[in-house]
Amino acid sequence: MSNLGEFELIARLSPFLASAGDDLVVGHGDDAAVIDLDGRGVCLAVDVLVDEVHFRRDLSSMADVGWKAVAVNVSDMAAMGARPTVAVVGLCRPPSLDAAAVEQLYEGMSEACREWGLRLVGGDTVAAQALAVSVTVLGDVQPDAAVRRSGARPGDRIVVVGELGGASAALAQLRAGVDADERLLQAHRRPVARVDAGAALAAAGATAMIDVSDGFGADLLHVCEASGVAAVVDAERLPAAAGVHEAARALDVDPMVFVAGGGDDYALVATVAADGVPAAEAAGAVEVGEVIQGSPAATLRLPDGSTRDLAGMGWDHYRQEGP
Ligand code: ADP
Ligand code: MG
Repeated sequence: MSNLGEFELIARLSPFLASAGDDLVVGHGDDAAVIDLDGRGVCLAVDVLVDEVHFRRDLSSMADVGWKAVAVNVSDMAAMGARPTVAVVGLCRPPSLDAAAVEQLYEGMSEACREWGLRLVGGDTVAAQALAVSVTVLGDVQPDAAVRRSGARPGDRIVVVGELGGASAALAQLRAGVDADERLLQAHRRPVARVDAGAALAAAGATAMIDVSDGFGADLLHVCEASGVAAVVDAERLPAAAGVHEAARALDVDPMVFVAGGGDDYALVATVAADGVPAAEAAGAVEVGEVIQGSPAATLRLPDGSTRDLAGMGWDHYRQEGP
């Protein structure tokens, strides 16, 4: 397993998974699947958070972990232009996790559910060695309005809603042994899903959309691969989270390592036709680049005119250590 990356592994699973067709509007390979149930679109996603891989219990409270377990799935709903409705929880509970801690976990999940208007409707609890929380979220979307990763076309503009680099900069500060900037650490603890913006971008005619979980560059590359296009992005237009540039300077690293390569940002990246940019901006988006013809590639353009390949700047849990 050690030399097999997450994406290579998922690719090997594709023979076992259903692709779009008939009532399956969006199959595997997107942020969430979409099923057409007699004209009503049901959007479905699951994400698992594992202790010491996705969070550290000395950095995140149990309520933070609960919030995040819901938020990352809600973010996948947002990336389809869907609105979350209900969630179920799978809890792997180690003996050390007492009932009060489990209640705090559920307090955090409830807070996130209130924030984005969904309800927890059940789950499963098993005794396990390590703490892991799996949340499955269902959402509503018009079947023909779901925004896939695959619709970007040359000439489209690339827009971003949300801030980039916060979570990864905080973790880099901690690894370097310096106190993490609380604002950045909060991005790691309490990510924000952009449901209203996702719906607004869908309404603005977004041709493709993804949420940033692996890193801006890696996730933009997913859109390029699914759409069969290339992307060029201006480094200085990328919306860095407040504190990222200062953190990068203090650590003596290129801020783009966090902004473009970071991960765990849960910003939305969408492509829209040029005439859709004003509506996207009204939804809180900033324009950062454009889609061009070419084999799938994502390129960062620096202020001096030089360019950098964004491939390989993302987070892959099989290859990198967790928090
Ligand atoms: P995201 O970051 O948006 O949650 P992932 O990178 O986790 O997306 O997954 C990409 C795609 O691969 C999704 O369509 C997801 O359903 C699918 N996928 C990931 N892991 C598995 C798995 N173990 N079995 C089946 N499908 C998977
Ligand atoms: Mg996603």
